[in-house]
Amino acid sequence: MEKTLIILKPDAMERRLVGEVLGRFERAGYDIVACKMARLSPALLREHYAHVADRPFYPSLEAFMSSRPVVIAVLQGAGVIAKVRELLGPTNSKNAPAGTIRGDLGTDSTVNVVHASDSPESAAAEIRRFFKPEELV
Ligand code: ADP
Repeated sequence: MEKTLIILKPDAMERRLVGEVLGRFERAGYDIVACKMARLSPALLREHYAHVADRPFYPSLEAFMSSRPVVIAVLQGAGVIAKVRELLGPTNSKNAPAGTIRGDLGTDSTVNVVHASDSPESAAAEIRRFFKPEELV
């Protein structure tokens, strides 16, 4: 069964949006098969965001993502990778349509509520990065 990794970012934690966001994924028919909290270190963030680590916004992204503990989870279900990205909306919350998570709840390009894997390859790598195999139920 297909799986994807999500991270409820510090803005979701600070604004107590965890239930709202996880509820949208559950109402779309997906199961939570792993879940934990952690404060992400600069080293782990540099690995997770390697594809943007040389962009000018990276220092503020790292500061934001390490500013408080986050919820990290694995969701499972048919087509979950693409569907969760669709529910999220585009990276820049200001361009995200109403009805999407970022459109309804996001602030800007950095502060955008939740991360989700964007392909089967990144989902597999990200699940391995954050969870041991035995942590998935
Ligand atoms: P997504 O999270 O939509 O997959 P990316 O993988 O391109 O987006 O970027 C990773 C994260 O880096 C984004 O979620 C956002 O927090 C931040 N980010 C991306 N692009 C920008 C930008 N142009 N300005 C500021 N922050 C950005």
